[in-house]
Amino acid sequence: MGKPDVCVIGAGVIGLSTAVRLQEDLPDLPIMVIADKFTPNTTSDGAAGISRYWNKSNPLLSKWAVATFKQMQNLHQAEGPLTGIQQFVLLDINDKETNYEVDVDYRKLSAEELKKLYPGKNYKYGNSFLTFIAECNLYLPWLMHRFKSRGGTILERHVHSFDEIADNYDVIVNCSGLGARRLANDESIRPNRGQVLRLHAPWIKIGTFDNIDWIHILPRSNDVVIGGVHRDGSWDESLSSQDRNYIWEKACKIEPSLKYATVVSEWVGLRPARPSVRLERQDAYINGRKLKIVHNYGHGGFGICVHWGCAVDASALVQQCLQEIQFNSKL
Ligand SMILES: Cc1cc2nc3c(=O)[nH]c(=O)nc-3n(C[C@H](O)[C@H](O)[C@H](O)COP(=O)(O)OP(=O)(O)OC[C@H]3O[C@@H](n4cnc5c(N)ncnc54)[C@H](O)[C@@H]3O)c2cc1C
Repeated sequence: MGKPDVCVIGAGVIGLSTAVRLQEDLPDLPIMVIADKFTPNTTSDGAAGISRYWNKSNPLLSKWAVATFKQMQNLHQAEGPLTGIQQFVLLDINDKETNYEVDVDYRKLSAEELKKLYPGKNYKYGNSFLTFIAECNLYLPWLMHRFKSRGGTILERHVHSFDEIADNYDVIVNCSGLGARRLANDESIRPNRGQVLRLHAPWIKIGTFDNIDWIHILPRSNDVVIGGVHRDGSWDESLSSQDRNYIWEKACKIEPSLKYATVVSEWVGLRPARPSVRLERQDAYINGRKLKIVHNYGHGGFGICVHWGCAVDASALVQQCLQEIQFNSKL
């Protein structure tokens, strides 16, 4: 038997990180990434890209988020800013005390500190810590470059169904985000519309995430991103002036100096929301042949936060599939 053929459908942060992790685990395996959109045109490109979600309320999400935080830390330290991974201080505001389980130093902010930091608000609980943001307009090209430089190939193509490409691959890794609704015939994945504004406000050096109103102010290397809204079930990708005003007013209440900022651009994206991430394997029978599919989609508003942890687990599932294929070929 020759080398098995593996393809990854999707070139957002989930598809590209899964492809890169597969190359790390299986350096000799030829891998193709197929997608109808590549950077800078994926949903991942527009995401703010912050790393959070480390509390224990969902152990699996937390495991993936911690693995991703560590990967971002390693990349930032080993390969520097060209990766698009930037470090910054985040003030994470909550309506109750929050403990994190990631290995970072975080400090609880006292009510007095919060009052001084945010005089226009009545915040009671918050933590301060160093975290990372993946600026996907840089991070996705970096992942693409890494993937190609290790021999990976890409194909720009819309895949209407798995049947269409089933004859060409032994394992298909489905990282199609919202596209999985059609591709995997999964109606539980639905859009959650978000909108962000990118500002010129270089004096903002510290990030704020208000988990009460779900508003964030995040400094990046060339802009400050403020957002966002969560419109569940909306497929509308046009900019809304109502959402823009809502974000602007809420953000200026948190950080009044933003009224001196200029808006550089605005963006709308559809989060691939699902009751839970689908990360599992499936054996399908297509054209009389057994095809192994590994699904990795449905990351909602936290795909960047968990991408590397999910890539590690998806790669392990692909390896399991390949071992079975090799075993069966010897029978
Ligand atoms: C406003 C906003 C802010 C956000 N901020 C954050 C944040 O701060 N932190 C965070 O963690 N997350 C954030 N997110 C969420 C994050 O953007 C998503 O979770 C993440 O981008 C999902 O990545 P993905 O690779 O699954 O999907 P995508 O980036 O959408 O990629 C899907 C890929 O699959 C391809 N594809 C789909 N169907 C097909 C098909 N049939 N054939 C061929 N190719 C196909 C597409 O072309 C694309 O390449 C935000 C989202 C929005 C909208």
